[in-house]
Amino acid sequence: MKIAIIGSGMSGLACANRLAQAGMAPTVFDKGRGIGGRMATRRADGGFQFDHGAQMIPCDSAGFQALLDEARASGHVADWNTGDGASHAVGTPGMTALAKSLATDLDLRQATEITSVTSSAAGWDLTADQPLGTFDRVVCTAPVPQTITLVGRALTEPLDHVTYAPSLTLMVALNRRIDAPATQTNPTDALAWIAHDSTKPGRKTQNCWVARASAEWSVAHLELSKDEIAALMLDIFLAHHGLAATDVAYATAHRWRFALVTQPLGQAFVKSPDGTLYAGGDWCLGPHIEHAWQSGTAIAEYILRAA
Ligand SMILES: Cc1cc2nc3c(=O)[nH]c(=O)nc-3n(C[C@H](O)[C@H](O)[C@H](O)COP(=O)(O)OP(=O)(O)OC[C@H]3O[C@@H](n4cnc5c(N)ncnc54)[C@H](O)[C@@H]3O)c2cc1C
Repeated sequence: MKIAIIGSGMSGLACANRLAQAGMAPTVFDKGRGIGGRMATRRADGGFQFDHGAQMIPCDSAGFQALLDEARASGHVADWNTGDGASHAVGTPGMTALAKSLATDLDLRQATEITSVTSSAAGWDLTADQPLGTFDRVVCTAPVPQTITLVGRALTEPLDHVTYAPSLTLMVALNRRIDAPATQTNPTDALAWIAHDSTKPGRKTQNCWVARASAEWSVAHLELSKDEIAALMLDIFLAHHGLAATDVAYATAHRWRFALVTQPLGQAFVKSPDGTLYAGGDWCLGPHIEHAWQSGTAIAEYILRAA
């Protein structure tokens, strides 16, 4: 059976990994150059490194805990002790590591943006900048707006009640150590989170920080250019820590338009009436990596049961 998976974030990789374990050989397409989707690690000139998407990996279920235990044993996940008595699972040496641990031996096609998924007598025809072939099963794990555009008409249920909050994120490398906590929650009206990223386990960098704007601030400033966002957020970050522009070695911003699910679908996935096309992602069950994993795994289990 030829299976195409759109998206190499946690949901697409969880689905592909489970199918591969059962002897299938899915092909995973992603428009990005790297894998992991919003579980993202940015490396910048100067040797700086930032987790500018998901920060840590909360876990609530036995199935996902088993995956984390395995990833811990293979060195892809470790505990980040933040110095305030708290400990959080994180990818190591970056948040993409958990994705990479699932991607071993998969047929991955990066930098391939799927532009159409159309039904034909033989199955589903996928197109990027050129035809990619016909597949018996297609699994779309893109965020909801892209999923609606690509495959929405073929699904049994509307997805338009699923909502997200955007997130504007600042990455800043300082040229000196400062005395501030490893994590700060709601440190200012504009910022929802600050992390001293370099204090996570396995990081080779020092003094790299990530700040995430609040949902309200992100909405209000969403359409500014990335340079404008970086400049505004940097001012807030520096003022909060009593720093000067001369303390900054590097700064940039990232705009996540569909960052955190605020209203999930409420079921693990959706499909076409004939069970040949599936859609899933964190947006099915909640705002976290674990929800993405649960959705992708549920799709794979369904495909395997139906095969
Ligand atoms: C700033 C931020 C902070 C977060 N913090 C946390 C946290 O601390 N803990 C936590 O658990 N979660 C956090 N999250 C949420 C977490 O990152 C997501 O829940 C999870 O990564 C979603 O995985 P996914 O596979 O469903 O979607 P994604 O990771 O978005 O993957 C979808 C993939 O589909 C690809 N794609 C889309 N359209 C196409 C197309 N047409 N063709 C090919 N490929 C396509 C995209 O490139 C992407 O790689 C955070 C998210 C953000 C943005």
